[in-house]
Amino acid sequence: MKLFLTIFTGIALFIIGATTFSFINIFADRYAEKLPLMKGAITCPNCGREKKFYEMIPILSFLFFWGECKHCGVKLSRRGFCNELIGGLIAELLFFRFGETMSLATPCRFSTVLDISLDFSFYKLLGLLTVFAMFAMLDLVLLVDARTMEIPNIFNYIIFGISVFSMLTMPGIGWLSHLIGFVCTSLPLFLITLAIPGAFGGGDIRLLAATGLMLGWKLAVLALFIGIVTGGLYGLFMLVTKKLKRGDHFPFGPYLCFGVGIAAVAGTDIINWYLSLAKPA
Ligand SMILES: [Zn+2]
Repeated sequence: MKLFLTIFTGIALFIIGATTFSFINIFADRYAEKLPLMKGAITCPNCGREKKFYEMIPILSFLFFWGECKHCGVKLSRRGFCNELIGGLIAELLFFRFGETMSLATPCRFSTVLDISLDFSFYKLLGLLTVFAMFAMLDLVLLVDARTMEIPNIFNYIIFGISVFSMLTMPGIGWLSHLIGFVCTSLPLFLITLAIPGAFGGGDIRLLAATGLMLGWKLAVLALFIGIVTGGLYGLFMLVTKKLKRGDHFPFGPYLCFGVGIAAVAGTDIINWYLSLAKPA
């Protein structure tokens, strides 16, 4: 019974995550190409033929048709497939990471389905939905910023709303830490940008404020740090391989989203580990 419950929950979570991220990818494509967001059928980007429902099943349809349009044979984007896979895995990760405590401030402890289901409540469901909504928005920002080099304000307002909601549904981070998180990374970058116009994009700064409110100040600082390190490594790699020239811009938002994601899931552990290095043995 326990094994059955675990397998069933695992599959259900994967389907929810993959399907959600599948729609986010379609939404991001339409946003980037300035197409109507909600209207019209989902079509092949090459021949324009409407997709049947079984061609839209996340993961499986890609595998079943070998990543090709059934009609014209054009290769479909692997990005959509990878995004669905990551979405499924994120849904699993968040459920088992936050299903018991719902708190960003507790160290990682992966609960079992039984741990979670013994004491499940509507309140916990709200907490899980909050953190999943945040990751879904991070995915949307990542996909849109990577293609258009801008983060639409509306996305940041929605993330801000999720963060305010998280102050009610996800315990463990004091309200003062939430409030400091709102300004502790965004304000310095804003001031730098006042001094050096164009240093950071307005969308990046608003993203730091909106996500920092949810993370609290410690995790917000860590998220920015991870974003700068990974974004910097990417920039360095592109310079060395001569794919970018000095002074070229590349979108920073995806690295911030990555930093926020890591900080949310494992940030408390990373900070505890870092502080333990400072203690004498
Ligand atoms: Zn086609």
